[in-house]
Amino acid sequence: MSESEQGLFELPRKYLELQVEARALAESVRDIAARADESDGIDVDVRKRLQATGLAGVTVPSRFGGRFEEVDSLAVTVIRERLAAECGHLDSLFAMQGIGSYGLSVGGTPAMQEYWLPRVANLDAIAALGLTEPDVGSDLKALTTSIEEVDGELVVNGHKSFITNGGDADFYSILGREGEGYSLVLIPADTPGVTTERPHQIIAPHVLSDVILKDVRVPLDHRIGQQGKGFSLVLATLATFRVSVAGAAVGLAEAALKEAVRHANGREQFGVSLSRLGSVPEHLAMCWTDIEMARSLTYRAAAASARDARANLHLSSMAKVAATEVAGRVVDRAVQVMGRYGITRGSNIERLYREARPMRIYEGSTEVILDSLAKQLVKDGTL
Ligand SMILES: Cc1cc2nc3c(=O)[nH]c(=O)nc-3n(C[C@H](O)[C@H](O)[C@H](O)COP(=O)(O)OP(=O)(O)OC[C@H]3O[C@@H](n4cnc5c(N)ncnc54)[C@H](O)[C@@H]3O)c2cc1C
Repeated sequence: MSESEQGLFELPRKYLELQVEARALAESVRDIAARADESDGIDVDVRKRLQATGLAGVTVPSRFGGRFEEVDSLAVTVIRERLAAECGHLDSLFAMQGIGSYGLSVGGTPAMQEYWLPRVANLDAIAALGLTEPDVGSDLKALTTSIEEVDGELVVNGHKSFITNGGDADFYSILGREGEGYSLVLIPADTPGVTTERPHQIIAPHVLSDVILKDVRVPLDHRIGQQGKGFSLVLATLATFRVSVAGAAVGLAEAALKEAVRHANGREQFGVSLSRLGSVPEHLAMCWTDIEMARSLTYRAAAASARDARANLHLSSMAKVAATEVAGRVVDRAVQVMGRYGITRGSNIERLYREARPMRIYEGSTEVILDSLAKQLVKDGTL
């Protein structure tokens, strides 16, 4: 086998180096990870440690102060894999810098890009994306937030719900109706009329707020991209970042399996190691198999997305479904293997169990993604 064939299914050096960098960062927050993962506001120390690495620059193109020429889905994915294994809070903080700012990177006015994006890249400004509303989740086209051009300004009214980084963000990329279409508009958090409230606590604490916009006025250049074309920027964001959720899910699942293996190796029942008892070895081996399967698809989809995110959205979507469903199965089996120690409050496995659950809901729920994949499959008629 030639050298290039041997490397066919290996990550190129650039990504291996990023993995090493991300692993070092993840390990550096180990002492504060539990505290940060219980917090519903951005942890100052986690932010500082991420900032010190410069890794957030991966979420912004280099012409605006980021690390690589373009935002690279595979780079984001391998980093998230390492971060999510140690600290969900850190993973979310890293990923949202890209998810909240990508529309601006590809469609903003030069002045807005030059002002905000270097700050996003070095974590001086926190980004957020506001799509969801109290009565609107998967069916985004039903959203009611309004954007109107009045006297040379944009006036925004609406209520965004479950917004990651809400309350702590420096700006919100908000999707709203404008005329017959939908526009994306950048709203600095300190604009008069912007308020936040935290009515929800979820099972895996997360920096989440509702963002209320009441007669919020911003200059016209705060519209990101063309009037009425906001959905295409949201789609571009999903196409670039959806696969990175799969990376986070693989990392989380692997961390759960490690916990289960450690526990099974260290405990005896009926005079034998738990790791050799009944169906336990089968559970462990099946988890390992599931994780490797999910990782292979995730890396392949992320590499395809890095080449052409829109053309390969079907692969990113499959990876997101596959890896998050695997994470759900793996944490459940890991908890079972660990018995009562798997459901002890404050334990690492309990945290992983809770953090795996929302992954199957946000950035396209499993069912919604499968529905659109099925439509594409039937329409195209070929595999
Ligand atoms: C931790 C977390 C962070 C989030 N961060 C953000 C954020 O930063 N910005 C933001 O805008 N939103 C955010 N959200 C909201 C998230 O995007 C929504 O939860 C998601 O879009 C699903 O909407 P919903 O929860 O209203 O579920 P619904 O849309 O009400 O769906 C409920 C159930 O019905 C199923 N369903 C819905 N439609 C279909 C269909 N057509 N076919 C088959 N099944 C269907 C779904 O799969 C799901 O099981 C976040 C959510 C969470 C949990």
